[in-house]
Amino acid sequence: MSPQHKFLLDESRLPKAWYNINADLPVPPQPVLHPGTLEPVTPDFLSVLFPMSLILQEISPERWIEIPEPVREIYKLWRPTPLMRAVRLEQALDTPAHIYYKYEGVSPVGSHKPNTAVPQAFFNKEAGTKALTTETGAGQWGSALAMACNFFDIDLEIYMVKVSYHQKPYRRIIMENFGADVYASPSDRTHAGRAALEQDPNSPGSLGLAISEAVEVAATSGGAKKYSLGSVLGHVLMHQSVIGLETLEQMEMAGEYPDFIIGCAGGGSNFAGFAYPFLWKNLTEGQRAKIIAVEPASCPSLTRGAYTFDYGDTAATAPVVKMHTLGHTFIPPSIHAGGLRYHGMAPSVSALVDHGDIEARAVKQLETFAAAVQFSKAEGIIPAPESAHAVRVAIDEALKCKLTGEKKVIAFNLSGHGHFDLMAYDQYHRGELKDYEYPAEAIAEAMTHLPKVSV
Ligand SMILES: *Cc1c(COP(=O)(O)O)cnc(C)c1O
Repeated sequence: MSPQHKFLLDESRLPKAWYNINADLPVPPQPVLHPGTLEPVTPDFLSVLFPMSLILQEISPERWIEIPEPVREIYKLWRPTPLMRAVRLEQALDTPAHIYYKYEGVSPVGSHKPNTAVPQAFFNKEAGTKALTTETGAGQWGSALAMACNFFDIDLEIYMVKVSYHQKPYRRIIMENFGADVYASPSDRTHAGRAALEQDPNSPGSLGLAISEAVEVAATSGGAKKYSLGSVLGHVLMHQSVIGLETLEQMEMAGEYPDFIIGCAGGGSNFAGFAYPFLWKNLTEGQRAKIIAVEPASCPSLTRGAYTFDYGDTAATAPVVKMHTLGHTFIPPSIHAGGLRYHGMAPSVSALVDHGDIEARAVKQLETFAAAVQFSKAEGIIPAPESAHAVRVAIDEALKCKLTGEKKVIAFNLSGHGHFDLMAYDQYHRGELKDYEYPAEAIAEAMTHLPKVSV
């Protein structure tokens, strides 16, 4: 008999609460510092940017935070998402391993990002926010927040990394379709943007710089606008926990428990959302799943960065946190996995890698695309280039099982589809994609600009 392929939950099984790793962290949380004074921030400082409800979530020690009913209602447009067993991939690899993937590409904008965009818009609406600002790289986050702001009738101003704004117009069109205003960053609308343009009129922009612009606009709006971030922060990772909570139930339906939990990591949100509920089982119930975060070799914050205090953005205006970082002034090479081009990493993911609870691996661009193509030929889905990093390591582990004959259970998060990244696949098929060398010099230079913190 052929094994079951899909493990589906009906709407009634949508999680009622988010899982908050703060309750179970084996290491004490590190303070968040003010970018000017480098002293611990007060809620007052953060409340310029975020509504108090989200700030309280950020520091809450509660293990479970209730998901408001209006958020669950919108989640139901695409959640619960399917857990698939990649039966045809197992056959193609001729591996005894069982491979499962959680598919977040079924969301309206094609990635996991609406899982936090919707609650962020909801809590802002509740707090009376009329307008939000944000940044976006290739546009996954921007399109998710544009959809969410449209649902809750909030204005949205998006700073989109310039090179993507010009090279990848489709997601910009999606954002504009939902009513958002999209500006190419660096723009002439902010000090940070104008300074960057003065240095280099042809600056392609970067995520760190776009964050500086979006933060500046909110911080100088006299309270009219708040700011929203699509990854890195604790509340963002927590909102994503619906992914892993559903997967726990679905693995139970499949009658197996994963030996490997694998996710790609840019700022850490889809990885944490998928992995933390399993980490909870490791930390509290003696489970032993091996949890792996996968990053690009050209932007290797977890595997090659320092674990230290650094700014969240290029212009050094965002809060300073302790994280794995390549230096806030580092501009990563233009790999196609735009969502993984960030100098830092979520503080909790960083702390857990440092403490040994999570393993980190770096993979190169070409081997990543090779895995994505192999996966799509077997399973029919074209992965987002970001998600393909997780596919690479899942296949690597399945191939190890082929050598050893072990029947391991491998689960990974397929964080999105690649339908708006087809030009990257085109370049790959034409042999025009390349691997970037580890940018040692640029990183060494950036590391000289770390803030001098004495806590
Ligand atoms: C944005 C994005 C990522 C990277 O962001 P994380 O916060 O690390 O999850 C990964 N995959 C997809 C499909 C994305 O859109």
